[in-house]
Amino acid sequence: MKKITLRAGKERSLLKRHPWVFESSVARGSADSGETVRVESADGQFLAWAAFSPQSQIRLRAWSFDAGERIDAAFFKRRIDKAIAMRARLAIASDAVRLIHGEADGLPGLIVDRYVDTLVAQFGSAGAERWKATIADALLAATGLTRLYERSDAQAREWEGLPVQTGWLRGEGETAVTIREHDWQLTLDVAEGHKTGYYLDQRDSRRRFADAVRQYGCHSVLNCFSYTGGFSVAALAGGASEVISVDSSGPALARATAHVALNGFDAGRHQAWDADVNATLRRCLEELKHGGRRFDAIVLDPPKFAPTVAHAERAARAYKDINRLAFMLLNEGGLLYTFSCSGGIAPDLFHKIVAGAGLDAGVDGYIVERLSAAADHPQTVCFPEGDYLKGLGILKR
Ligand code: SAH
Repeated sequence: MKKITLRAGKERSLLKRHPWVFESSVARGSADSGETVRVESADGQFLAWAAFSPQSQIRLRAWSFDAGERIDAAFFKRRIDKAIAMRARLAIASDAVRLIHGEADGLPGLIVDRYVDTLVAQFGSAGAERWKATIADALLAATGLTRLYERSDAQAREWEGLPVQTGWLRGEGETAVTIREHDWQLTLDVAEGHKTGYYLDQRDSRRRFADAVRQYGCHSVLNCFSYTGGFSVAALAGGASEVISVDSSGPALARATAHVALNGFDAGRHQAWDADVNATLRRCLEELKHGGRRFDAIVLDPPKFAPTVAHAERAARAYKDINRLAFMLLNEGGLLYTFSCSGGIAPDLFHKIVAGAGLDAGVDGYIVERLSAAADHPQTVCFPEGDYLKGLGILKR
């Protein structure tokens, strides 16, 4: 087993069971991509078994902090079984579930979603890549399923120096799937959809949005960054009479339109606008001057503007701008559901950005909901970076 020695003082994060070690913390030692190494402090104390990633800034990702644990097929089986058992306790209102959420489940870089009878995996770290076949076998054994599709096409692969890889890893067949979420049916394609096919992390917020639309009596809803219309279906289920989905992806909007019909809603209640959200909000604001209208509810669920803290400042401006425009386009008493899925923007910073947007818009609001990722995308005590998705439900005062 190869040994990696850290610089003096750099053992602190592993001692706190945080699984990452950055390049600058390593004093000595090297290994192949994904190889398991023994990590020691400057004075030779055991810290962790970790996967070595020669190209990534995150040079080591810890598999285990237990000196007696072996990183082998049995290890992956234990971790995978435990993660799946945790989901079984959550009573998730869907047959589409995140089974493995990377670091939070002690499996850095590995994401696995289950869509009915199909598993979809992202191997986003050199370590996960190295153990791919072992992990695939353990996943099939733990779930009793036979189909596993690989979607190793996230940006993290590039940072790890790994090529894009997609396709069936186990089993084969159709990549189109229909899932049930709450009372709704939604379709996706595991080969072509964003991420592994769908944004499962917003499941709970979509349910709460449907309830809020009903509770606050929202009739007109503007769903910005709608993707395939999850929040639009929720709005219709909540009784909205006019819902507009805005997204720059034509295929996603085609699905949004199909989802309205699939769930038995009148097509006349929904419009799909293939457009840039920023330009759309500005245009709506401009139209206000000539008799344009405001909305009873607006959803802002943009893509990751700040993947890391390094991008936070520019991202903050972008978030502030869309939130400012949305505040101005809301009716009095209207509901804003605003999100950030940027790991680089902490919840308190997001709150400040939204407050700044309100200030610029000359609007105050009541925070009626604090939203986060559904519980099958768990946060752990030792890994604050896991808190990537945050949202606020605000009633315009
Ligand atoms: N709310 C969705 C997920 C949104 S993901 C759900 O619940 O499923 C972000 C979406 O923003 C993607 O569909 C992407 O196509 C879209 N997008 C990214 N940049 C955009 C822009 N500038 N204007 C419009 N849509 C954009």
